[in-house]
Formats: sequence, C-alpha cells, structure tokens
Amino acid sequence: MQTPQIVQPIKSIDELASFCKRAGFVFPSFEIYGGMAGFYDYGPRGVELKNNIKAQWWKSIVQDREDVVGIDAVTVNHPKVWEASGHVASFTDPLVDCKNCKSRFRADTLAKDILDADVAGSDLKTVTELLKKTNVRCPKCKGELTEARKYNLMFKTHVGPIESDENVAYLRPETAQLIYLNFKLVQDSARLKLPFGIAQIGRAYRNEIAPRDFLFRVREFEQMEMQYFIKPGAQSEQSSAAPRTKGASENKKFFEQWKKERMNWYLSLGIKKENLRFREHKKNELSHYAKAAADIEYNFPWGWGEIEGIHDRGDWDLSQHSKVSGKDLSYFDDEKKARFVPHVIEVSAGVDRAFLAFMCDAYKTEKERIVLKLNPKLAPIKAAVFPLVRNDKRIVKSAGNVFNELKKKFAVFYDASGNIGKSYRRQDEIGTPFCITVDFDSLKKKDVTVRDRDTMKQKRVKIKELTGYLEKQLR
Ligand SMILES: [Zn+2]
Repeated sequence: MQTPQIVQPIKSIDELASFCKRAGFVFPSFEIYGGMAGFYDYGPRGVELKNNIKAQWWKSIVQDREDVVGIDAVTVNHPKVWEASGHVASFTDPLVDCKNCKSRFRADTLAKDILDADVAGSDLKTVTELLKKTNVRCPKCKGELTEARKYNLMFKTHVGPIESDENVAYLRPETAQLIYLNFKLVQDSARLKLPFGIAQIGRAYRNEIAPRDFLFRVREFEQMEMQYFIKPGAQSEQSSAAPRTKGASENKKFFEQWKKERMNWYLSLGIKKENLRFREHKKNELSHYAKAAADIEYNFPWGWGEIEGIHDRGDWDLSQHSKVSGKDLSYFDDEKKARFVPHVIEVSAGVDRAFLAFMCDAYKTEKERIVLKLNPKLAPIKAAVFPLVRNDKRIVKSAGNVFNELKKKFAVFYDASGNIGKSYRRQDEIGTPFCITVDFDSLKKKDVTVRDRDTMKQKRVKIKELTGYLEKQLR
C-alpha cells in the first residue's frame, strides 16, 4: 500500500503565476521591454488548456443544444453601439489622483481596502466626502487626493487616416452588444423561434485603473457570452403587446434555469463544490441594464472572486438599439399574432478567469512532485508516450508506432529521453492524465504500461486496445 500523500493546495496567486511561467502556461506580455500591467500571453501549455475550456463551453452551450447558435463579431466598434448601450456615459470607475506623486487609484478600492467600506452604487460626491472625512491619503506617498471623478474604461481609437471626433471608435468592452446588433439577421437567417440564444467567444478590452491578481483583472481578455432571448414575463412592467404567460415570470424561470446550468458546467469539469458559490446582487449594485443578477464565485487564494455573471437584462439592450438606430428589432410571434421586444437572460463568463479557477483548483504540491489534477477533457496533453530506454532500436520503434497511432485521435506527446522518472514528473506538472511506456515486455506481449497521473498506479494494456482504452477514460 502507498503511504498517503501530503497534499498542499496553492498558497498564493504569485506562486501560481511563477509556476505558469516556468511550465509554459502563461507569460507576462512584452517582458523583454519591461512588461505592461494587465497584459498576459498564453504559452504552449496555456493555449491548449484555454482552447479546451472554450471548446467545452461551446459544446455545452451551442453544439449540445438545439436552441442556441453562435456568431463571431468584430472588436473595433462603431461609437453608436456604445452610446446606445449606455457605456459611453456609465461604464466608469470612480478615479482619484494623488496631487503629489500623480498616482491614480480607484476610489471604491481605496474605501474598501483602507476603510473596509462598500461604496458600490454610491455617487461621486458621497465617495469624495467619505474619503475626505476619514482623511484617506495616497497609499504611496501620503499625498493629498483629488475629488473623485468618472473615468471611462473603454479603449478609444480612430478609424481611417484622420484623428478627429468624427471617426472615433471603441475597442469593445464586452461581446454582448454585438449579439444584439446581429439579433435580427441571426433570427431571420437561422429561422429561430423564441426562446433561443446567440453565443459568442471573443476578445474584449477594458482600460482598468489597477490591474491585479494575475489573470483576474486584466486589460485585454476573452469572454464566453450567450444572450438567451425570451418572451417577456407576466410580471413585466413593459406596456408592449407581449403575450402574457401563466404563473411566475418567464424571466425568473430562465434566470434560475441558466444559473443552475452554468454552475453544473464548472462542477462537471472538476471544480470542487466547496470552492464555488452564488452571490446575488443587491439592488444598489445592479448595472444600469440589469433587473436581476447573480455571480458564480470561485474561492481564489485571496478570497472569493467572480468568474461568471448571470443577468436578467430585460428588454433594455434591444430597445436601446432600436431607439438609437431607428431600426425595428422587435419579434413577431406567429401563433399569437403579436409583435414585441424580447427580453434577455445573459450568461457571461471570463475565459481567463475560468482558466485561473481551473488552475487554482487543479494545482497540488505533493511530497515529491507538483501535479495538476485537471479534468482529462481540459488537460493540454491527453497522453505521453515514452520508450523505456533510448538505446534499443526495437523499443524506440515500437514507441514511435504507438505515438503515431494515438496522435490520430488525441493530443499526445512523445519523449525519447529514456529517463522515465523525470518524464513522469514533467507530465504531472502539466496535467497529462496518462503516461504510456514501451518496455522490454512490450516486444513479446504487445502491450504497454499506462500510468495514471492521480494515483500513480500502472497497469498493462494491449497496444491494439490502447485507443479504445483512452477514449473510455476521456469520455
Ligand atoms: Zn502619492
């Protein structure tokens, strides 16, 4: 019997960041030029894990369902989009400057960190007065702070050769709005009937005042978002000719349904139940568009943090775009012969935050190894193949054949170094669930050893049964 391992979870986010760099998952961007806060590049292992996360999301949201389709829209956006959505006016954080050293801070973060005060939803005057009254000064130099003012988080650029107010464009701060713009085109071309959803995975940009916590708050990131269009519920305050539904509001029903659906996705991919929770938003926390909102939070090394938001956005977005563009974005219900603006339940997840949560949950320090206990579906490499020794031509050839056969179906890795112990450790670190070794017995018996990452136990499997064996394990 094996002695039980002492398992240490991750101690700090810095520990994970340096591991990610060393093992080829994530690198700080522009490092040779001194770096830039809030930007990260994904390395050879990281890009595979990230792609697998996105593929699993797409499968569960789009491919496994009959009522959701996908799009892929542009990231440089017409300014009207973000005027209509309310982002030009309200996508802001309260900013204060140090009059002495010119450092900039988020006023709400200062209030939280220094005074332990929650000022979410408060106006600028209230925040300024609170910081003045309690004599909060610059954390860096103790200098005096300016009054709080609005700071817009959108990156601005210009389209075409002339920089003027007429050709301003924004890098999108979320993917959702592009789904609303395409609502009519998608519905008509895909002949969809309510309720149905439109999904998108793509980049978004936010010029954060203070990026922090590794991949958690960054300035360029990816989102996985789906907008689910429904008939307005019975309790809707809208005066449209919407068909009334019996009993409880449709909004509430689908909001709860999607909350459950999304929580199950993280659980099904191996995140421990005790590390996940819901947090319902209070009334004063709700965004300008939201009627109800809940976060899925993960228990990160620094505390609970949002990895996904589920929002009841009512008919805010489609109505706004109809109003500002002058184009009709309503829906005609054939059965009820009624025209109305659909309501929206949104599920909005951060790819990078999901990546961080999966990594934090999987990373373990054991007695003599670091091991990434990732769900096999997410693991960058599914199996590694080694010849036991590198100086026996028959063994090397047989291992090469095994590799060539498996790579038709899986992401596999071949390592002919001949140092099995070291090879195992390297694969444990990047989360490879199976290590396959071709040894002297393999030549006679036509089988290999398959070592399990988590139990470190080995079993012999016939070479001709190997593909089927792995398929079963990865299902
Ligand atoms: Zn200062």
